[in-house]
Amino acid sequence: MPTKTIAQADVKNKRVLSRVDFNVPIEGGVISDDRRIREALPSIKSIIDRGGSAILMSHLGRPEGKGFEAAYTLKPVADRLAQLLGKPVQFPSQDLTDAAAEAAAKNAKPGDVILLENVRFAKGEKKGEESYATKLAGYGDMYCNDAFGTAHREDGSMFAVPKAMKAQGKSCVAGLLLEKELKYLGDALKSPVKPFVVVLGGAKVSDKIQLIENLLPRASAIIVGGAMAYTFLKALGREVGSSRVEESHLEHAKKMLDQAANLKCDLHLPVDHVCATDFTESGGTVDIFGESIKPGFMGLDIGPKTITNYGAVLRAAKTIVWNGPMGVFEWPLFRTGTQQVAQASVDATSKGAISIVGGGDSAAAAEEFGLANQFSHVSTGGGASLEMLAGKPFTTVALLDVV
Ligand code: AMP
Repeated sequence: MPTKTIAQADVKNKRVLSRVDFNVPIEGGVISDDRRIREALPSIKSIIDRGGSAILMSHLGRPEGKGFEAAYTLKPVADRLAQLLGKPVQFPSQDLTDAAAEAAAKNAKPGDVILLENVRFAKGEKKGEESYATKLAGYGDMYCNDAFGTAHREDGSMFAVPKAMKAQGKSCVAGLLLEKELKYLGDALKSPVKPFVVVLGGAKVSDKIQLIENLLPRASAIIVGGAMAYTFLKALGREVGSSRVEESHLEHAKKMLDQAANLKCDLHLPVDHVCATDFTESGGTVDIFGESIKPGFMGLDIGPKTITNYGAVLRAAKTIVWNGPMGVFEWPLFRTGTQQVAQASVDATSKGAISIVGGGDSAAAAEEFGLANQFSHVSTGGGASLEMLAGKPFTTVALLDVV
């Protein structure tokens, strides 16, 4: 049954305690990418435009529940949110459980927007402590989960708080961003228009085993790049030089290659590589190798033939899910593969394909290439989208109301 959304809830004169994901990059007090704040606006507006008040809570970074730390304050987010909304945002205190925060939440009036300080300053957040959950549950008449980026974590504000609110008979619904994320990724998994092509890259095979096993029976093709390609290539007996290989996963990689063949899923591996002698931005000596990489060299990007092959597969796709860079895209010398795969994906999108970027590094890369708004959907959650693609259910979503 579909999860009830904030748009379907009666919010008039209600204080809506909303868990959002405002975990944005902040350097020297300046937000360098405010996408997660902008993506939260539709739910916030849906609440305040219909006579409710929005009491927002989020984490930022990884403070460890030891109280206020200036490096992780959400104050810059409150300021940016006020700018985007064109109205004041209350930021009551340095501790979301203190009397000032509680009074602000309890006295919220229709149209008010209140941002509580970083939930991870409170020790109850990670532990999901009952006293913490009960306290926060009193801050709202209903709960809204709009934090897809944290949907795979049973943190207090994601799980114990809505559970406590449900026990008090309060409604718990999904925000519009959460709904959109679940829909794009859910549809791609349940009923993808074929050919369904999955692009996988990044550092490790071990992070993506479950995801590959879940996708092999569904995907028409899986395109592999990044360091994880070298574990597959070594498992096939290729010379990979000093490329990054997970020796403990060679057997597993071989098994997945066999599984792909059995399921008639084309698992594509690079046929050439941009290689370097040093793992540095300049790479020491840089050269391109075909199937065999010379000793002393490591593969840091897919090569030109591979780019052509992968581009052809992607341009013929009707559904694309992309998770992980094709090389060390942070360094310009090893960025081309990732950029060209992104370009081929948006080319397919312009011809009607559905394309989804699975958050994290890939979303950052798409943004950097100026291509982010040409994909059908760029997820705000790297870890969460990986878990969803791996087929793991979210308990934080399961406890929300259904229609
Ligand atoms: P992940 O977090 O698993 O998505 O991995 C992303 C990281 O993998 C990025 O920081 C890339 O620089 C890195 N990466 C991609 N390709 C390679 C490669 N061939 N060798 C080493 N690191 C790589």
